[in-house]
Amino acid sequence: MSDNILEVQNVKKRFGGVVALDGVTMSVKRGSMTALIGPNGSGKTTLFNVIAGVYKPDSGKVFFDGKDITGLPPEKIYHLGLVRTFQVPRMFKGMTVFENVMTAARNNPGERYTKSLLKRLWKSVEMKVAEKAVDTLELLKILHVARNPSGAISGGQMKLVELARGLMSDPKMLMLDEPAAGVNPTLAHEIFKFLVNLKTEKGMSMLIIEHRLDILFDYVDYVYVMHRGKIVAEGTPEEIMNNKVVVDIYLGE
Ligand code: ADP
Repeated sequence: MSDNILEVQNVKKRFGGVVALDGVTMSVKRGSMTALIGPNGSGKTTLFNVIAGVYKPDSGKVFFDGKDITGLPPEKIYHLGLVRTFQVPRMFKGMTVFENVMTAARNNPGERYTKSLLKRLWKSVEMKVAEKAVDTLELLKILHVARNPSGAISGGQMKLVELARGLMSDPKMLMLDEPAAGVNPTLAHEIFKFLVNLKTEKGMSMLIIEHRLDILFDYVDYVYVMHRGKIVAEGTPEEIMNNKVVVDIYLGE
């Protein structure tokens, strides 16, 4: 088994005349928390979309857990255990927090089995899913809002629900798009501490886009810096903080 759970090899992607990814090669070590940073427009979101199967790269390869996933549709990649959360939480606003978390379970067989003779099996599976939803909400300290409509909770709580939804399918790896965007610094640190726990206790692998470098750098193991569609630097947070190329990019933003 390779040390790397994710490998991106020389990926290129253009949109008309815009070269969004100009030969990106990077990897995520199993059980590591890896960050992807860079100024706006540097290609981070496009790279996430290529990895998650939303866009096909023009050339290059993506390997996940030893399997070539280049060009696979997003739901296949999700079912392989590579799960993504969004910067702006994606929820069904008319549902409660609990219902939203329940619907995110990967093997929820409700739809398939409702009308079948296997209703009993479905019920027992649904009980397990419900227990998992409760555990996940408890872990994230938002069990007390489980019955609230999803549209009626705070922005920080919505970020946590988005994370809970991501965790319901027992992913092997999480891709997190700005998990701490728009939340207060205390909660931002709590979110990152929670992610570190996921890593140390469950061996979760993570790739994280985050703009709040002051917070991010306290927690991540390794950092890739993007600029104009290329990886221009990589290293530990300390190395990146002292990297002149990186400092120039950010000052020139
Ligand atoms: P980041 O996430 O780092 O802000 P993006 O990946 O969103 O960067 O964008 C990289 C470049 O690709 C930008 O120049 C952006 O305008 C362009 N781009 C991204 N998505 C599209 C798209 N769907 N159509 C056209 N251009 C796009």
